[in-house]
Amino acid sequence: MKRGVLIVLSGPSGVGKGTVRKALFEELDIDFTYSISMTTRRPRNGEVDGEDYFFVSHAEFEENIAAGNMLEHAEYVGNYYGTPKSFIDKTLGQGHDVFLEIDVQGALQVKEKMPEGAYIFLTPPDLQALKERLVGRGTDDPEVIDRRVAAASSEIRMMANYDYAVVNDEVQLAVQRIKDIVKVERLRVNRILPEYIAMIEELGK
Ligand code: 5GP
Repeated sequence: MKRGVLIVLSGPSGVGKGTVRKALFEELDIDFTYSISMTTRRPRNGEVDGEDYFFVSHAEFEENIAAGNMLEHAEYVGNYYGTPKSFIDKTLGQGHDVFLEIDVQGALQVKEKMPEGAYIFLTPPDLQALKERLVGRGTDDPEVIDRRVAAASSEIRMMANYDYAVVNDEVQLAVQRIKDIVKVERLRVNRILPEYIAMIEELGK
């Protein structure tokens, strides 16, 4: 069976990855599966365990790392975030496409292990917009905001490691660009070739 496509949305802190991802999954024609991350961060208002994240303790997260259950993990502003591995393997193996929304450290770890994925870097329209978003979110205290700004400036330098850049000037436009990328990715020869190999062998007889 043809393997599913791994789609990784990443980008600097505060660029709006979560907002774009949520808007993307509200579209009716989305036919890829979201990989729910695990985190030690506390749930924000309205966040649901098992939907937004699997919220776990530090000890539980570290047990999962030790057991080799994480495809990647990163420590971000004092908390662990990571992608459970078995769900990804199983879903891709069943031929379904899987979508990850993760930070830059995590995305680069995944790219080392799974270079065949489609790596999308979400960029801010400009740096001022990014700073305003980090300050304006209103959910974090000033010390956390400072750390997010510092993280964002080093993360933005990692853009060259990605396959696609999508500017988040307007959420709906960014969503459309991501949908276009997924359509194109599904048509890459290296994904389709296995289906044709039998046909080519048949022709050669
Ligand atoms: P937040 O606390 O705002 O939900 O997320 C903080 C950062 O962690 C965001 O940049 C988000 O994309 C990233 N993140 C969410 N899930 C994962 C994950 O599974 N792995 C990694 N490496 N980063 C993640």
